[in-house]
Amino acid sequence: MTNGQQNSVLSQLMEELSAERIRVVDLTTSLGPETPVIDLPPIFAPSPGLTITEISRYDAHGPAWYWNTLHLGEHTGTHFDAPIHWVTGKDLPENATDTIPPRRFVGPACVIDVTAEVEQNPDFLLTPARVQQWEATYGRIPAGAWVLLRTGWSKRTSREDFLNVREDGAHSPGFAKECSQFLARDRDVLGVGVETVGTDAGQAGTFDPPFPNHTTMHGAGKFGITSLINLDQLPPTGAVVIAAPLKISGGSGSPLRVIALTPT
Ligand code: MN
Repeated sequence: MTNGQQNSVLSQLMEELSAERIRVVDLTTSLGPETPVIDLPPIFAPSPGLTITEISRYDAHGPAWYWNTLHLGEHTGTHFDAPIHWVTGKDLPENATDTIPPRRFVGPACVIDVTAEVEQNPDFLLTPARVQQWEATYGRIPAGAWVLLRTGWSKRTSREDFLNVREDGAHSPGFAKECSQFLARDRDVLGVGVETVGTDAGQAGTFDPPFPNHTTMHGAGKFGITSLINLDQLPPTGAVVIAAPLKISGGSGSPLRVIALTPT
């Protein structure tokens, strides 16, 4: 590598960060025992939330050190869905948290703001037409982009409002099947990110096929990220998202720290 290469884009990035012309935005919720986990019908095995147990805290168990044991499902809090998570992606190459090439954890963000629609209808589904309406203003979604669905849902801070479960199941926004197909096939996105507990709508267990976003995205080798916050701090285009899951051997996903680099 020549000096010229060392000097170029990365050093400029560091300068821009130091000068606060580029900001690091944390898109991650705090992970704790109260972090809600998706409710599945009782015929299916549930995923546990986080249990945290102290090993020592500067005490007889460890006089100079503090550390904890964690017990949790892979899909807890702000987390990453790998293609192997779904049956449609189970035989794809490089489909697990340890085998996905790390280059694919970084991509430009396209933030589609449907907050107003979701205020009117918590079961709102993003459609290809709505995506194309966004593209008419902000340009075509490039291949390898993260498509982030900004719904305002992360403002629902109580567990009850966030999960929004009624007698007939959860009510929260998501993607129409045709939209997941459009994004995966016609736009070749990296994946989708949402503010809700899962990348499918609350009612998606009743759709055909059930959970069409998981079915489509993971079948196409694409990813999901859930329980994002601070999407209102990102521009519609121009931010870069870094979302790298834990390198769990054969892992189907993991909690992660999602950060965005965004112009100020
Ligand atoms: Mn998940």
